Amino acid sequence: MKRKPLIIANWKMNHGVEDSIKFMAGFTKKKLPENVDVVICPPFTSLYTMGITLSEIKAVALGAQNCHAEASGAFTGEISANFLEEIECKYVLIGHSERRHIFNETDEFLQKKLIHVLHTSLIAVLCVGETESERDSGKTFDIIRKQLNVLTMEHTDELSRLVIAYEPVWAIGTGKTATPAQAQEVHHFIRKWVQEKFGLARAQELRLLYGGSAKPDNTRELMSQEDIDGLLVGGASLKADSFCDIIHCSV
Ligand code: PEP
Repeated sequence: MKRKPLIIANWKMNHGVEDSIKFMAGFTKKKLPENVDVVICPPFTSLYTMGITLSEIKAVALGAQNCHAEASGAFTGEISANFLEEIECKYVLIGHSERRHIFNETDEFLQKKLIHVLHTSLIAVLCVGETESERDSGKTFDIIRKQLNVLTMEHTDELSRLVIAYEPVWAIGTGKTATPAQAQEVHHFIRKWVQEKFGLARAQELRLLYGGSAKPDNTRELMSQEDIDGLLVGGASLKADSFCDIIHCSV
């Protein structure tokens, strides 16, 4: 069973307001295929401007790269999921490997975020993935299982607003893509885990994305894998041409 492809751009700390406007000037001229969902996650300061432009081209949704686990309060420098809803954001990344490894976000903290986000109208994109040394020592599935364990039965009703992205840390921003077979093996493991915990129907409708040096050249092969429903794209999403090529190659 194939699900509707979902392609998400993660601009990380790139493209302030001026560059976001420049990107959109090129991107809005492109014709996009209809049978794919596209999301752009710019930095926080570009979200509002991007939201206004994206509301004119309904085919692309707005996403944020992060949010806090609480709705409001004394959390200097943080952004609430409710603020994201207010500016028409539809998606939010949770537990990107840079949040886990650079900003020390733990599974316990990410679970709180996930619970909070799933109680809003946002779609949560939970990112999981092993480091190179974890893969080399045969721990890939243990790590993925541990990261997936933030999902509990309490989330059953909200699973339609969840996407899971498998992003091997060793492939993010390194130019080293997982082979389609390596990616498929982990995607299959994730879908099976979801099936065992939440049932076949939930597992079948869940969209699983691959992330890690995805580019126009490797999109078709990755997307041809049974359990890969889309891509989370960093570097190659920064230019309108290459992001658009990826979107076209994904269908
Ligand atoms: C990412 O940031 O999620 C990512 C996959 O980056 P890149 O495509 O640059 O590897």
